[in-house]
Amino acid sequence: MLPYKNHQEKLNLIKSGKLSLLENVKYFLDRAEEKKDINGFNFVFKEDALKSALDIQKKIIQGNAGRLAGMVIAIKDVLALKDKQLTCSSGILKNFISLYTGTAVQKIIDEDAIIIGKTNCDQFAMGSSNENSFFGNCLNPCDLTRVPGGSSGGSAAVVAAGLCDAALGTDTGGSIRQPAAFCGIYGLKPTYGRVSRYGLTAYASSFDCIGPMTGNVDDAELILSVISGFDPKDSTSMNIEPALSGKDYEQTSKYKIGVPKEYFAEGLDTEIKLRIEEYISFLKNSGFEFVNINLPYTQYSIATYYILTTAEASSNLSRFDGARYGFRSDYEGSLADMYTHSRSEGFGEEVKRRIMLGTYVLSAGYYDAYYRKAQQVRRLFKNDFENAFKQVDLLITPTAPTSAYKLGEKSNDPLQMYLGDIYTTSANLAGIPGISIPAGVNKQNLPIGIQFMANHFQENKLINISRFIENNFKNGK
Ligand code: GLN
Repeated sequence: MLPYKNHQEKLNLIKSGKLSLLENVKYFLDRAEEKKDINGFNFVFKEDALKSALDIQKKIIQGNAGRLAGMVIAIKDVLALKDKQLTCSSGILKNFISLYTGTAVQKIIDEDAIIIGKTNCDQFAMGSSNENSFFGNCLNPCDLTRVPGGSSGGSAAVVAAGLCDAALGTDTGGSIRQPAAFCGIYGLKPTYGRVSRYGLTAYASSFDCIGPMTGNVDDAELILSVISGFDPKDSTSMNIEPALSGKDYEQTSKYKIGVPKEYFAEGLDTEIKLRIEEYISFLKNSGFEFVNINLPYTQYSIATYYILTTAEASSNLSRFDGARYGFRSDYEGSLADMYTHSRSEGFGEEVKRRIMLGTYVLSAGYYDAYYRKAQQVRRLFKNDFENAFKQVDLLITPTAPTSAYKLGEKSNDPLQMYLGDIYTTSANLAGIPGISIPAGVNKQNLPIGIQFMANHFQENKLINISRFIENNFKNGK
């Protein structure tokens, strides 16, 4: 057990000489070795981490360390870190070394975080169970026969298993929130544009977001405040001051919370439903007002999401052609053969499925019927949420329809797997922020996640409600 609950406590212990950062990093490295069977890390940076520990410990004592000084953070292996592998958990990039560091990662380094390693994920962040990884399945530390969720499964698993203080994940359709729910941690997907995507390998550029995965609310807030902000290298990033740091915390119990009935329909696990009801009655008793909300387009979220993201993916992934990046097939033939074989051999099955789907929906004959139509529906999602947030501050929903399932249970049925994204994809379609918070466990001891969503750039409300629950809700855990 770690002797601190959050980063501030850790810093205090280091400053007062009660905790050695070097010992702390060694502890994490040993534990990562011990828990290797989880397969959460693609790469561990042992030497770098030990060296940084010594340097940063000095800075902390001298009083000139950054805001994340000594926080041990793992980053998903779709994020660029100079001179380190950047594989996206795919065979096509298995030997690729990044030439630069992405903005969010650079920002945590500049604030003196220690990067312990890169985490396993579904190839190119495509998946919900981490079973689509070139490096093999990552296991759920709460039950090793089950998936950790995906695509940021490794990031969730290493935080839940106590192999680091926090992790960065990415969320295109739920990949921060759903694994956070499956592993019993906090996962915050920021507003689209809050965090620069520079250095995040693109899956679906108009959806992709980088965000924190942590064991407590304070650390999620702290990391978000560090990685946020405008970046000239990402024209979709925004210069809006994050309204965080517990701002307006006293106002929290005045929030009006919407319960969208479409998120509690058939298909939702009964224990998850009951747990959310328990939280709703606790919040009602604490003075929160609840109203029923309709989000009628919810039923189209999976279809819209999978049309638009595969379309973007088919374009984004065309750059992996064997000529410039990573793997090249040794098949002898024409240039076209080289492209075909490099891509066929290098990409995993799910990635190829999505490239084909995306190419199809963008093709001349089908563009209007699928891609254009889906873009129009995307606008309706945005309107749906705009209307909802005229009435309420927050929406409460399940994060996923089930808790963590068994390895292999859904991997042969892509549609079944896609359906698990029903509650998370809408936030990405609308670009709004969402958080998954841990809400105890079910009868099988598996974590349950509850999701809150807020309007654009209102992460402060997500932080406040999560903190309120973390501080006050004691039952059911
Ligand atoms: N599970 C979703 C998918 O497979 C979400 C992935 C993500 O957010 N990166 O597309």
